[in-house]
Amino acid sequence: MVQDRVFPRCCSLCGEIGPHEDPCPDCVRSLDALLHGTACPRCAAPLMVTAGEVAPTAVGFSLTPCVACLSHPPPFDRVVAPWSFAPPLSGLIHRMKYRRDLAAAAALGRLLAREVNARRGATPPPGAVIGVPLSRRRLLYRGFNHAAELAAIVRRSLGLGTVRGVRIDRRHTPPQAKAESVAERLANVDGAFTIRRWPPDIREVAIVDDVLTTGATASAMAGALRDRGVERIEVWCCARTPLS
Ligand SMILES: [Zn+2]
Ligand SMILES: [Zn+2]
Repeated sequence: MVQDRVFPRCCSLCGEIGPHEDPCPDCVRSLDALLHGTACPRCAAPLMVTAGEVAPTAVGFSLTPCVACLSHPPPFDRVVAPWSFAPPLSGLIHRMKYRRDLAAAAALGRLLAREVNARRGATPPPGAVIGVPLSRRRLLYRGFNHAAELAAIVRRSLGLGTVRGVRIDRRHTPPQAKAESVAERLANVDGAFTIRRWPPDIREVAIVDDVLTTGATASAMAGALRDRGVERIEVWCCARTPLS
C-alpha cells in the first residue's frame, strides 16, 4: 500500500519498522508462546490436563472449573486473561503503566480485544466495559488510569460505546504487591469499591485490568457490582501471573 511506504508501521513490542502489521510476526510468535494452554473457564488459572481427563475446548478453556472455583465460586462468571505475565508482554504492560506510554496501551487493548472476540462464542457483548478505577490519591500520583485507557481501546476495537451514568469510587489502600498472602490481598481490597451511580438497565459488565494476580481486586469490584444488581460479570485482563 502507498500509505505503508509513506508511514511505515512500527512494532509496538520490539520497535522494528517495516511493512508488517503491529506487532511484527516475530513478536506475534513470542506472544503466542505465552498463551495459556487449557485454563479454568471461571478464573483463567492454567490447568494441567492429562489426555482423556477433560476435553479442552478449541479456545483453550477447560469445560470444568478448577478445584478452587468449584469449592469457592468467585463473584465473577468468567476471566479472559490469555497470556502469561512474562516478556515481551510484561515489558509492554510496564511501559503502559509506569511510563504512561499510550502506544503501548493501544497495542495491548487491541490484542486483548482480539482474544476476547476469539473466546466470545455465542455470548453477546456486555452492556458496559469498564476499567478498574484507581483511588483519587493514586490517580493524582500516576496522572492517568491505565485500566481505563485499556478499557477504552477494547471498547473501540469491539465497536462498543461508552456507558454514561457510571461512578465507582475506590478507597486508597496499600499497593497489592505489598500484600504477601492471598488472604492479605483479599483483606486489603475488601470493601474498597463503592458504586455511587450505576445505570439500572446495565446487567452485564466486563471489568478490564492489566494483570490478574490472585483476582482479589477483581473480586472486590465484582462483589460491589453484584450488590447493585449486575447479573453477569466478566474480567478481561492481558496477563495472568503464574499461580504459586
Ligand atoms: Zn516486534
Ligand atoms: Zn478457577
